[in-house]
Amino acid sequence: MNQSSQTRQKSGIRVLVVGAGFAGLTAAIECHRKGHSVTLLEKFPELKLLGDIISFGPNSSRIFQRWPGVAEQLDALSQRADGLVIKNWLGETLLKQTWTTEQNEFGIRFDGHRGEFHEVVYKHALDIGVDVRLGARVEDYFENDNEAGVVLESGERITANIVLAAEGVRSKGRKIVLGYDDKPKPSGYAVYRCWFDADEVAKDPDLQYFTNNGDKHVAWLGPDVHFIAASVKGGKDFSWVCTHRDEQDIEESWSFEAPLSDARKVLEGWDPVVQKILDKTPSPLIDWKLVYRDPLPTWISARRRIALIGDSAHPFLPTSIQGASQAMEDGATMAVCLSRAQAVATGNDGVQEAVATFEAIRYERVRSAQKTGEQTRDIWHKADFSAAKKDPQSLRLRREAWLLNFDAETYAEAHYEETARVLRTNPEGGIFGDTECGRKLHVPEGKEGYLEYNETPVNVASSVKTVEVLNG
Ligand SMILES: Cc1cc2nc3c(=O)[nH]c(=O)nc-3n(C[C@H](O)[C@H](O)[C@H](O)COP(=O)(O)OP(=O)(O)OC[C@H]3O[C@@H](n4cnc5c(N)ncnc54)[C@H](O)[C@@H]3O)c2cc1C
Repeated sequence: MNQSSQTRQKSGIRVLVVGAGFAGLTAAIECHRKGHSVTLLEKFPELKLLGDIISFGPNSSRIFQRWPGVAEQLDALSQRADGLVIKNWLGETLLKQTWTTEQNEFGIRFDGHRGEFHEVVYKHALDIGVDVRLGARVEDYFENDNEAGVVLESGERITANIVLAAEGVRSKGRKIVLGYDDKPKPSGYAVYRCWFDADEVAKDPDLQYFTNNGDKHVAWLGPDVHFIAASVKGGKDFSWVCTHRDEQDIEESWSFEAPLSDARKVLEGWDPVVQKILDKTPSPLIDWKLVYRDPLPTWISARRRIALIGDSAHPFLPTSIQGASQAMEDGATMAVCLSRAQAVATGNDGVQEAVATFEAIRYERVRSAQKTGEQTRDIWHKADFSAAKKDPQSLRLRREAWLLNFDAETYAEAHYEETARVLRTNPEGGIFGDTECGRKLHVPEGKEGYLEYNETPVNVASSVKTVEVLNG
């Protein structure tokens, strides 16, 4: 079905989006919904089912829910465990954290295969009429006060009112925004990851817990390592990830194949159930280097016509479980800002104000969300396991309302005007000056500008209980 009739009246703003990951696709779909004219450029010549497990929290799931038919398709592909079992590396169960309260209060989440989810969203973009150009690799960016554009590998130049650089951790857009080449750094960690058919798992009596009676999700925590296994689609598929120390250079590549034996070395002496899972796992694995970046000082270009969104602006550690969600929030926020600026524009297209306002609205929230990834990693990787046995809740995943019970579209609608006004009247250069005065309006409350985890989260405490499972 062609759903383009559901979009609003055309705004006249031409948006060029570079990169068809979840940041770029969300920006493209949301901008199209708001009546902007979108062209999406992606370097891959064809769609492939790449990746393995990925998570979308309630904060991004509500964006999917606004796209007709998409949430229903994702739901059918999603992991539907009722909670996460947390064990130590020897296999002793410490707690089970259930999701019922969170789901009732914050909304549903979607966890599943990245490639399968990506295909659903990509097809939705085509279905509603987004102009997608595959095999279009962007080599360079340019801008002036009236327009921005890109140069493709073929030499073709394309211009628009605004360019969104959503090309992931190796973004080329960063150079024009920052004025220098910013290289990713190794974070000191990498993740072995895999996804395979659960047939062999289901045959093993010691692993049937995973495949009988619905999906299961189990995390084993050890010194500076964690291993998380999940059965998906009612026990049809199986996936695990193992975050481990890694000091390799990532100059040339950050996703390698690694033999299963590498993971066996890291997990030597761990729970026999983990060893059994390794026995059923096809080799090789993916060894995914976790890239880190110091927070970029800005995500927007000097003339305010180019913005970095998603991983190109802010890569996340997987322990935040928020990288894809924050990438989607960027897209939804930008679409609103472009509409609001258009509505108040006098004399020009309003894009420059929209870009400055977008960054001010997003910057501090994203920083706080990034911080949660470091906090969870440290809580898990540096756990004192004898203390944790007495206080298992200290190991729970913090699932807080400020992050998860959030609607990016509504928030941007509610805060656009106030933020834009502060930027317009900024004595240090207006919307072209430092956006700090606007960012300050959006600092989540907490110590030193970052939200600290509450010791006893009000809404979610009741969902955390200690139980014995897997005979742990
Ligand atoms: C192939 C792949 C597999 C992944 N697998 C997983 C996974 O299993 N689990 C997980 O949690 N996360 C995975 N990720 C990362 C995850 O999707 C992102 O961290 C998150 O969704 C934020 O997405 P993003 O759109 O900002 O960046 P990305 O998902 O990295 O998307 C960037 C897009 O830009 C395109 N691109 C890059 N350079 C150019 C260029 N010069 N011109 C045009 N297009 C360009 C890329 O091909 C890609 O489609 C994967 C990413 C990729 C690209």
